[in-house]
Amino acid sequence: MATYDLIVIGTGPGGYVCAIRAAQLGMKVAVVEKNPTLGGTCLNVGCMPSKALLHASEMFQEAGHSLAKMGIGVSAPKLDLPAMMDFKQQGIDGNVKGVEYLMKKNKIDVLRGAGRIIAAGQVEVTTADGKKQTVETKNIVIATGSDVAKLKGVEIDEKRIVSSTGALSLEKVPDKLLIVGAGVIGLELGSVWRRLGSQVTVVEFLDRILPGMDGEVAKQFQRILEKQGFAFKLGTKVTGVDTSGKTLSARIEPAAGGAAETIEADAVLVAIGRTPYTEALGLKEAGVALDDRGRVEIDKHFATSVKGIYAIGDVVRGPMLAHKAEDEGVACAEILAGQAGHVNYDVIPGVIYTTPEVASVGKTEEELKQAGTDYTVGKFPFTANGRSKVNQTTDGFVKMLADAKTDRVLGVHIVGREAGELIHEACVLMEFGGSAEDLARTCHAHPTRSEAVKEAALAVGKRAIHM
Ligand SMILES: Cc1cc2nc3c(=O)[nH]c(=O)nc-3n(C[C@H](O)[C@H](O)[C@H](O)COP(=O)(O)OP(=O)(O)OC[C@H]3O[C@@H](n4cnc5c(N)ncnc54)[C@H](O)[C@@H]3O)c2cc1C
Repeated sequence: MATYDLIVIGTGPGGYVCAIRAAQLGMKVAVVEKNPTLGGTCLNVGCMPSKALLHASEMFQEAGHSLAKMGIGVSAPKLDLPAMMDFKQQGIDGNVKGVEYLMKKNKIDVLRGAGRIIAAGQVEVTTADGKKQTVETKNIVIATGSDVAKLKGVEIDEKRIVSSTGALSLEKVPDKLLIVGAGVIGLELGSVWRRLGSQVTVVEFLDRILPGMDGEVAKQFQRILEKQGFAFKLGTKVTGVDTSGKTLSARIEPAAGGAAETIEADAVLVAIGRTPYTEALGLKEAGVALDDRGRVEIDKHFATSVKGIYAIGDVVRGPMLAHKAEDEGVACAEILAGQAGHVNYDVIPGVIYTTPEVASVGKTEEELKQAGTDYTVGKFPFTANGRSKVNQTTDGFVKMLADAKTDRVLGVHIVGREAGELIHEACVLMEFGGSAEDLARTCHAHPTRSEAVKEAALAVGKRAIHM
């Protein structure tokens, strides 16, 4: 007889949320975690520590630059980096303890060690000191997440050449920071270190930043970052880093080929993406198929090629985002309980937590063009939003894309302060299949930045009021 109804391997946002939902639905659940703390990439070396440093570095910057103009006189702020790192660690500790508490509260067993699937219904757990036990279960959910993607010719030592993990714990502010990759992680961590004093250069293989985001939004955001002091080398690749000198010397070349040059840096952050993590899981032996990109292959009910084994989160297809992993965890648990668990992949927001923030949901203008969809655009700048004006934080705009015939909102893209909060009214609207008109006729409190979202909806019908 099975000891558990469900064993979840990995306790990131996908795994621990799946375990909680399954326990709520009456299943006997265990999670397996090889890391000393629960919470996965997100809580330990991802979303949460990066947001703690983004917040602290923003306060540092504001203290130095923004307070005087509001009539608040303070002396120039001094950076105490170890104290800032402590602040970050307290945030991590609080959150991982929260997950421990939730496991206890929901009577979920935590099996410490590396999990390996022996076959459907059997997981072997090996503790750090080598002790093994085999646990029986009716179902297994793989939620082992992702790992840093490596760049050929560049060896990460997590001291001078770092991944996002090392970049969250640098011991001093590098004078010159070279970032390989103009994606979300590179731009967020670049913002942290630039605010603390680094001169930041971002090298990107493609000819634009933030591939996959709406092009107009990416262009505007690039201009804002350049104004803040970021330097970009687009259409360029890093082919190697010479570590023999006191400073690092990165070799770069045009992506399309051409003469090489070198850039000196005190630290290099490799942020070219993440790869699914399936190491030592025993998938091949258990017969669990991977797709051509090394992700665990699943059907629309999260089932792998082996009956009784499921997978969710970064280790499967789709955007590598914590909330996507969480929603898949919930849906997968509900399916296991015989319910109709479901994730709407058309309405998964993406946020970049810089200043200003960038947030988007649904289709980009490029995607609509490519699909031949007839659409209308409504745009509203924060320069015309009263609340933004009085706070003097007017960078950015809201852009809404709606179906030209039905007015149904297909995508919303925002650059601006608090964009990561503003985007959710668009998410709710889109989840309900709402139109720009629906949003435009919804009363919004004044004065709020949310009024810019309403005005963008009005602009879809060419009737924005304040523009
Ligand atoms: C710097 C950074 C910033 C990020 N910021 C954001 C953000 O702001 N918002 C956002 O949505 N996403 C963000 N992400 C992405 C986010 O962290 C991931 O999408 C999310 O953590 C994926 O969750 P998951 O549950 O699939 O896997 P993970 O969180 O990666 O968790 C997997 C867990 O499985 C464990 N594990 C792996 N193999 C085994 C095994 N064999 N046995 C036992 N345990 C195992 C690992 O130790 C880990 O704890 C960020 C990522 C990084 C690196």
